[in-house]
Order: sequence, then C-alpha cells, then structure tokens
Amino acid sequence: MNNLFLQNPEFIQEANIAPSDIITALPSLIVPSINHLHDCFFITDENWILTYVNDDLLDLMNQTREVFSNKLLWDCAPDLIGTAFEKNYRYALTNQVSLNFKDYYKPWNKYLEVNIYPNGKGISVYLKDVSKQQQLPAQIDLLRSCIDRLNDVVIITEIDVEKTIPKVIFVNEAFLKISGYTREDVIGKNMAILNGPPGQEKEIIKIREAMRNFKPIKTELLNYTKFGSVFGIELDIVPVANQHGQFVHCIVVGRDISERKKNEILLLKNQENLKFVLESGNVAHWDQDFTNNVNSYSSLYFKMLGITDPDNKSKWSMKDVYEYVHIDDKKIVLNEYHRVLKGMETYNVEFRVIWPNGEIHWLWCRGKVFLDDMKKITNANGIITDISERKKTEDQIKQLAFYDPLTQLPNRRLLTERLQFTLSQNSDYFNGLLFLDLDNFKTLNDTLGHDKGDILLKAVSKCIEGCVRKTDTVARLGGDEFVVLINHVSTCHKEAQKEIQKIGKKILELLNKPFKFGNYEHLSPASIGATMFANNYYTVEDLLKQADVAMYQAKSNGKNSLVFFETQMQEAINSRVVLENDLRRGILNEEFVLYYQPQLDNSNQVYGAEALIRWIHPEKGLIPPMTFIPLAEETGLIVKMSQWIFKQACKQLVIWSKNPATAHLTLAVNVSIEHFKQENFIEQVMEIVAQTGANPNKLKLELTESALITNMEDGISKMNILKSHGVNFSLDDFGTGYSSLNYLKRMPLQQLKIDQSFVRDMLSSANDAIISKTIINLAHNLNLEVIAEGVETIEQKQFLHNNGCSRYQGYLFSKALPINDFMYYVSTTI
Ligand code: C2E
Ligand code: CA
Ligand code: CA
Repeated sequence: MNNLFLQNPEFIQEANIAPSDIITALPSLIVPSINHLHDCFFITDENWILTYVNDDLLDLMNQTREVFSNKLLWDCAPDLIGTAFEKNYRYALTNQVSLNFKDYYKPWNKYLEVNIYPNGKGISVYLKDVSKQQQLPAQIDLLRSCIDRLNDVVIITEIDVEKTIPKVIFVNEAFLKISGYTREDVIGKNMAILNGPPGQEKEIIKIREAMRNFKPIKTELLNYTKFGSVFGIELDIVPVANQHGQFVHCIVVGRDISERKKNEILLLKNQENLKFVLESGNVAHWDQDFTNNVNSYSSLYFKMLGITDPDNKSKWSMKDVYEYVHIDDKKIVLNEYHRVLKGMETYNVEFRVIWPNGEIHWLWCRGKVFLDDMKKITNANGIITDISERKKTEDQIKQLAFYDPLTQLPNRRLLTERLQFTLSQNSDYFNGLLFLDLDNFKTLNDTLGHDKGDILLKAVSKCIEGCVRKTDTVARLGGDEFVVLINHVSTCHKEAQKEIQKIGKKILELLNKPFKFGNYEHLSPASIGATMFANNYYTVEDLLKQADVAMYQAKSNGKNSLVFFETQMQEAINSRVVLENDLRRGILNEEFVLYYQPQLDNSNQVYGAEALIRWIHPEKGLIPPMTFIPLAEETGLIVKMSQWIFKQACKQLVIWSKNPATAHLTLAVNVSIEHFKQENFIEQVMEIVAQTGANPNKLKLELTESALITNMEDGISKMNILKSHGVNFSLDDFGTGYSSLNYLKRMPLQQLKIDQSFVRDMLSSANDAIISKTIINLAHNLNLEVIAEGVETIEQKQFLHNNGCSRYQGYLFSKALPINDFMYYVSTTI
C-alpha cells in the first residue's frame, strides 16, 4: 500500500500528508474518500487475496464487503480469467510494475481504464469507467464522416488569440475534392494559401473585419486550387466561442459556385468583347435606367455628337441629343420617340446631327425599351452608329442611279418613280407631262462636236428648270430628249391645259433664242408634245408614249411648236406599228417593185428614168413610198431595201445596155439619208455595180441636200470617190435645203433637180418663178445639167424651156411606170 502513495507523489502532495505517516494513516485517510469515489478500487496481496474493495466496486458487483473480504480475486470475479485484465494483473504482480491500460469489461458492459500499482507484495488496482470518453471518438468519427459526405465545403479554423492568425484544423472531403489539396497540405496552415486571383482584396478585408469583430459573414471568393485553377466559392463564416466566451474557432461552410462564377466571368468577358467590337466597329452604346435615374454612355457616344466627354455624363438623356439633331430631322426623331411611348419596344431611326464645329453627321440609332406592367418605360438602351460615309455612298449611288450625270437632272428611272407617285395620288388635280426634243441637236453635235453638244444640253436643262416650279420634275431621258412633269396644275381641265401650254410656250420661246458658243451662235428650237392626266387611268408608259406621240406631231407640224396629245395620234402610232411589221414581212417576201418615170429632153426624147419604189402589198395593194420610206429609215430597214433597189436598178441598166434602143438610157436612183450615212456606202454601191456589171456612167444617184448637211465633208468625199468610179450625181429637191454655194461648188455633181414645189407654183407665184430661174442660171454657171421635176403642164414646160431648162420629168409626160409600160413608153417616143 505504501508503495502506491510513494509512487504517486502528487497524491501525497494534494493530501498534504508526510510520507512517514502514510502507512499508519492510510485506512482513516483513504478509505472514506475511496468509498466516495465513483471509480472502483481494490487491493490484493501476493496470493491474489482481496485485502480491500471500495464501495463503488461493491455496488457495482452488488455484493457486501463480507462476501469479498479475504477472498481470492479470481473467485469473486471469475469473468476476469482469460481476459487482458487477468494477464495484466498477473504481469504487474509478478514483475511488481505499474501498468495502465484500457479495455472493455464485458460483465459490466463498460470500458475501463485500469491503473495497476504494485504495492510491495500484491497490487492495488484502480478502475475507472471511461465508457463515455471511449464513445466520444466514435461519435466524432461519425460526425466527421457525415461532414465528409456533405456536398458543401466545411473548414474549421482555430484562432490563435495572440497571433490572430487562424489555422485550419479541419477540412472535409468536399473541400479536398474542390481544392485538390490533401489534409496534410492544409491542416495547420492559414486559409490564405487558398487565395485566388487578385482583385478580391476588398472582400478579404471585409472578412477580416468581421472576424475581428466576431461577426458572421457571407461572402463569395475566387480561390486557386492546388494546381492553380480557379474555383468560386460562396462562404458562410461563423465564429464560434468556447465555454469561456472566447472566439477561438471559425466554422466555414462553403458552396461551390464555380459554374456560376464561370458564367459571370464569361458574361463579363462577353461584355468586354462586345464593348470592344462595338467601339472598333464605330458603334457607341448607351443605357438609361429610368427607375434609378442612372445613365451610362460609351465614350464613342459623345464623339459621335462631336463633343468631348461632358461633365454631367450620367445626366445625359435623349433630350440633350435632341438639341444636336438637324432641324429637318427633329420631326422624325420625335415621331420615333412617341412611337416608343405608345408601346413599341424597339426603335430604329436615322437622323442628322450638327456637331458644335458645324459638321453634319448622319447617325443611326437603334435599341430596345423595357416597360413595366403599367407600360411605363423602366429602361432603354441601344447603339448609335455614324453612318455619314454610308449615306454619302448611298447618295452617290442614288445620284448615279436616278440622275443624269451630264445635266444632274433626274433620269428616266426617277421620272418614272415620280410619275408613278403622282398617279398613285389619284387626285382631282390635272398634271401635265411635256416631252421636249431639240430640233437641230444632231446637226450641232455633228458639226461642232460633242463638247459643244454637252454644253448646249446643260444650258437647255437650266433653261427648262427656270420655267417650272421646284416641285415639278425636269428629266433628261437621253440624247436631246427632255420630259417635264408639272404636278397639281388645276382641277379645271381648261385651266390646266392653258397653264401647261403657257409653260411649254415659255420654254419654246427661251430655247428659240440663239445660244452662243464663242463667236458661233446656235439656234436650238425644240418641239414639245404635251399630255394631261388627273386620275390613275393611264400608266406611266401610256403617258410618256402620249407625250412622245404629240411631240412627233409637233415636229412634223414644223419646228418650234407645241402640240397636245389627241387620241387620233395614238391611232396613227398604232397603225405605224402594224406598218412596221408589214414592212419587215414585205422585205422578206420581196413585195417591192421599181417603177420608172421617164426623163425627157427638149426634143421630147426619153434620155433616162428615175427609179421609184412601189410596195405591192398583198392586202392593201400599191403603197406609195412616202408611206413607208420614212418608217424604213427610222427602223433601219432602209439599208436592206436600198440594196435591193440598187441591185434592181443596176440589173435594169444591164438589160437596157443590151438593147440598142435603150442602151443610151440613164437611171436615177434615190439615195436614202440613212443608207448614205453608212460607213461602207461606197463599197456597197460598187459591189452591186460590179456584181451586176452595170455601167456606172449610166447610174445617177439622187441625193438631197438634207442627206448631205449632217456631215458635208464626209458626204462630199464619198461623192468624189464614187464619181471617180464613174457614178453620177444629181442634187434632188434643189432649192428646199440650205446648202451653201461654197459646198455646191465642191460637189462632183452632174445635175441639179429643181424641186417640184417651185415648178408647181412657178406660173402663179412670182417668187417661185424667180427661184426656178435662179436655179437654172446657177446650174449653167456651175456647168451643171438642170432638170425640172413635177412638170404637169405644157405651160410649165414652156416656161422652163424659155428660161434655159432642157430636161423634164413629170405627169405631163408620164407617171412612174412598171418596167413593161416604161419600155412601151420609150418605144413610142422614139
Ligand atoms: P422624189 O425623189 O422627189 O421623187 C419624185 C416624186 O414626185 C415621185 O413620187 C414621183 O412620182 C412624183 N412626181 C413625178 N412627177 C410628178 C408630177 O408631175 N406631179 C406630182 N404631183 N408628182 C410627181 P413618189 O414615187 O411617190 O416618191 C416620193 C418620194 O419617195 C421620192 O421623192 C423619194 O424621196 C422617195 N422615193 C421614191 N422611190 C424611192 C427609192 O427607190 N428610194 C428612195 N430612197 N426614196 C424613194
Ligand atoms: Ca428623186
Ligand atoms: Ca424630188
């Protein structure tokens, strides 16, 4: 027993007993105290005889002291035998050493902590029920595995009060999984090892602040994993106090918000990208929050208004922009604004702004408006683009597409568009359409060149524009054709016609004044065809056609005149179309014949003939040349037709040449202007002459002055070449044109042909008589033959004869005859 106390000096100290007194004092000292212990205690001697058992042990064994006293331990507690208890007891007793162990004691269903102390001979055994303590680690294990199974991250840190650096003392599996760390990596370390990318300093300070004040805090952080990737975590940090009220631990519960954070980062990135794209694409962005009255504008936004960033940027509103809007576009902008107020959720408007430096820029503003349940605007945002360049190009394209580059007048397309618009109005007001064609433009272009032609066209366009209102349209269709659309003239037909006529006449009057090109003056009269319309009964094409038809009528009425369209004119046009189709077929089917009108000398001898074409129409019978020659010329059909005529004429000359009675006959062939103008006219004629074998000396080409006038030099040179091949020339319809004596002298002519109009009236009109006489004299002076055509009376022939004419052609002798009749005529006059 003494050994127990000797080996346990703390006990002795606490009991305040001198070691020498221990043995004697023991029973009175320890027994009562042991009895009051909840722990069990017994002593055995070296033979395992129980010398002492405390009350707790007796209670536990449910035995009286008498039963146990001086009994063998193994008899009192046979359950000990074979257990670790027995083994350890024996070992301690045999070796007289202290032992301490814990084990489960089945009969009591308890964990016992056993302290064995040798006491000289036997042992003293102290049993302590540690079942509760033994359970705690198991419970903690349970808790830990629960916490480990949580999806949420749990971290427990311990705050070292002095150092104030919290250390991690616990992390769960979820933490390990998300962070990539092992427990060894983090336990005992500071949480800062997790710190993520920079930019979270504010958040970390907040957390520290909360910890310092022992306040829970909710926060979000970006952390790095062990391997350096970022994970986002939402944290609930709660300081926990110990039983003394000191905050020594922090429980951190976190949720992985990496996905959300990733999306947020992506969103941010996208926003930045968008900003970049917008700005590099010259797009300004703005956002207006009406609820919180917060507005944001990208810096480009103000640049687009020509201002450097204003101070009160966030106070800017559409109202401020409105100040910059061009006066002509304010209405458009306001309309769009009202549209939005009425509930349209998107807007899209183009307008001009005037920069403070005076520059005008086109802006394109698009965006979206957000309305609340009450249809009140809460937010609006959008983008603005400077589209000045685009507008410029659009204008240029428009200019090219809709305007004539020479005069800058609207072209046919724009005219059509405007005319279409006027028609769509379908109003009671009459509108006028003038079709204007310059009379001598071709001549000017051919004689003075295209430069001068262009100058004239510009001058004419200015002149016409000066005669109409700004709301009217003056268009150039091409060449020397102009069209004027006079809108909204009057509801009264008569009044409208009067007004349109007045405008047309004014234009004619102005154009009839000579234009000056340096020293040269050019008279450029015009012909105008006019039409009127009120409702949309006609189409654009109808109206243009009507005005065109009227213009042709004006031209044939004589130059410098204005004619209003009438329905009969259209009929004439329609029949022209039919005629043209007929003509094509006629040429294909060779429905033409040449008639021959005799030409006689003073002794009434037939010395030649003029070939005159006739169309033997299968249904309409014989058609005179004046009905179809102009149309053939207009359509270009004349070239084919002329070649046929030349061939027929040459063949006839060859036939005549083979008969002594006709071998002397010459044949005059009329040359069409359009044919003569052909570049290879000479080749065409000479080829036919060569092919047929006709004698060119017997061939006489009748040219009119008008055929030559457009290009006199070219005409004369063609004549000279043909003359050099033996072909002769007669100037037809002489006296009606304007050829100057100068040119006349240079032409290789054989003959002048007095126009039949002078012959017709020479006996009644002194003027015509004088002209006829003058032509005859002129011919003599120029050493030319002179022939009079259209001689119908003996008196006419006599007059001509008396004045020196020696050749005649006309009904007095014969009409143009089919070849057989002509041959007969010739045979009778020999
Ligand atoms: P042109 O060359 O002045 O032909 C003379 C016209 O006067 C012919 O009319 C002829 O029949 C007509 N004539 C002849 N004598 C008299 C007369 O005493 N009194 C009246 N009132 N008329 C007379 P035609 O054959 O009808 O030809 C008319 C015009 O057609 C010609 O005028 C000519 O310009 C053109 N033409 C006729 N045949 C041809 C042709 O083969 N080729 C070309 N290019 N034009 C032709
Ligand atoms: Ca003729
Ligand atoms: Ca003639």
